[in-house]
Amino acid sequence: MIDNNFKTKVIGVDIRVDRTVYALVNIRGEVLARDEIVTSDYPVISDFVTKLSEKIVLLMEANGGFDSVRSIGVSAPSGNFHTGCIENSPNLPWKGIVPLAAMLRDRMGLAVAVDNNANVIAMAEHAFGAAHGLKDFVLVNLGSGMGSCIYSKGVIYQGTNGFSGEIGHTTYIAGGRQCGCGKQGCLEAYTASKGVLQTAKEVLEEYDTPSLMRQSQQLTVKQIVEFCHEGDQLAIEVMRRTGHALGVGLANYASLFNPEAIILSGAVSKAGKWLLEPTDEAFEEHVFHNMKGKIKLVCSLYEDRELIVLGASVLAWTVKEYSLFK
Ligand SMILES: [Zn+2]
Repeated sequence: MIDNNFKTKVIGVDIRVDRTVYALVNIRGEVLARDEIVTSDYPVISDFVTKLSEKIVLLMEANGGFDSVRSIGVSAPSGNFHTGCIENSPNLPWKGIVPLAAMLRDRMGLAVAVDNNANVIAMAEHAFGAAHGLKDFVLVNLGSGMGSCIYSKGVIYQGTNGFSGEIGHTTYIAGGRQCGCGKQGCLEAYTASKGVLQTAKEVLEEYDTPSLMRQSQQLTVKQIVEFCHEGDQLAIEVMRRTGHALGVGLANYASLFNPEAIILSGAVSKAGKWLLEPTDEAFEEHVFHNMKGKIKLVCSLYEDRELIVLGASVLAWTVKEYSLFK
């Protein structure tokens, strides 16, 4: 069959609590155009989908037209690839089960795939970044939460219900810090940004030595890293403890899956050597002995937002084309 209508562009969408970014991306992974809307302006999901659809159509019309676009990939917190739904996202304005893929497909008349941000980031790293050419790897995203994605034999291992890779909610310290998920002692309560800030609070209470962290009104992880660069010993201690927790968690993960590499992405991963050196030390100390010295820890090459839009475009290529008339 001759196909003269091969489509070379897709739409990648990155839904976050604050903003939703959408972009037109070509088959070579080049972002041709992008724009955004404020997610929280649309507390009702049907209003959000209507606005997003209108804006995507405008973007397509200004850049080659609707007919050149094949499909849409969407990254969303708690997005489920199997169902195409956002499922009980704790932070988005829309509660319960939101059938986003179906709603957007009906509005747009294009195939839509939905997945969670860790899986989408892993797709971007696999296609264009640090995981390029790898078949078995784990991606761990450290931001306001800790998500992960498992690639096995070159494809994502989703698990029976699409919830695989919840390393952030594996237990680091039984009976430890309260986690947002309701459990105590979860790894992300020590390694994601909120956990790092909690560690800073504890370190400042434990020591009475001076620290730049004491002068900050609203301490952030980025500031703590800057203070590390300035030689602040307590800031360095905060990242050392964070790295230790991360290294132990990653060692457990690696011992189960024996990946070629672990890719770290997200805001906390930008801490550089202050995080990576203690992570690597704890990792090598706790990983199963046959894997010692064999698993690479690699940081993402990209900024978060760039990565997710690219990953969402990769996701868009994985769905079958859809038309009402075929
Ligand atoms: Zn948890």
